[in-house]
Amino acid sequence: MTQQTDYERIRVDRPGERVARITLARADRRNAQDYKMLYEIDDAFSQAIDDDDVRTIVLAADGPDFSSGHDLSAGGDPIDEFDRVTEWGGFGKEGAEGYYATEQEVYVGLCWRWRNLPKPTIAQVQGRVIAGGLMLVWPCDLIVCSEDASFSDPVTAFGVNGHEFFVHPWEVGARKAKEMLFSGEAIDAETALRLGMVNHVVPLAELEKRTLALAERIAERPSFGLTLAKRAVNHALDGQGQWTTIQNAMGLHHLAHTHNRLVHNGLVVDPAGFSIIKKGAKRG
Ligand code: ZN
Repeated sequence: MTQQTDYERIRVDRPGERVARITLARADRRNAQDYKMLYEIDDAFSQAIDDDDVRTIVLAADGPDFSSGHDLSAGGDPIDEFDRVTEWGGFGKEGAEGYYATEQEVYVGLCWRWRNLPKPTIAQVQGRVIAGGLMLVWPCDLIVCSEDASFSDPVTAFGVNGHEFFVHPWEVGARKAKEMLFSGEAIDAETALRLGMVNHVVPLAELEKRTLALAERIAERPSFGLTLAKRAVNHALDGQGQWTTIQNAMGLHHLAHTHNRLVHNGLVVDPAGFSIIKKGAKRG
């Protein structure tokens, strides 16, 4: 496998014993995710999996906010320049066909791969995590966040049910998932802790240190035990129908994309939606 190291959107380092860290390095854009960033993250995860000296992987982010979500300016672009990692193809086909395949590959497909990586992953989160930002955090096994962290998926403002990796009912519970989606409002760190969505809330100044300490503690344990424990828990979620739920929701999500293209001539570009989200941000 070719070892890519010249990343443009991320950095990779080894901050501790048997710990690899991937850091989103697009702080000037609040770590908005374009396709290049997502494929770079995927490549870095793959390299960490192939390295037997790595037992735990941390996913961190530069700047005040973990991630503002998908870079909408990239929406609808072809992904031909990247090597696909799922079974999907036909990304350039017209109408809903090509874009459905694209989002199955680059959003759902990548998230599902990361959720199933055979090594424990820990998201280290500060500031805002918005919509697609959750799709980097939720596939991780553990989440450590700072007190200022907040989590939202405001896309019903665009007439969409939720972001593509629809695991909201598992992450925050069905009741809170509905409120989160209906209102578009953010869940704060303490609420996320109470709901079991995050493992630990720590002061921002201690976020890196505390995350690494947890990563190193886990990395002292046998790799096979970690892999098997992860699979056992993931299989419990599989048994509850998590994958089927994601795929059902993805159909609704693309119904919304197609509707918006027909009515608003864009994926999510309902001008009213932007003003709703802006109003909500001021309140929050
Ligand atoms: Zn989408």
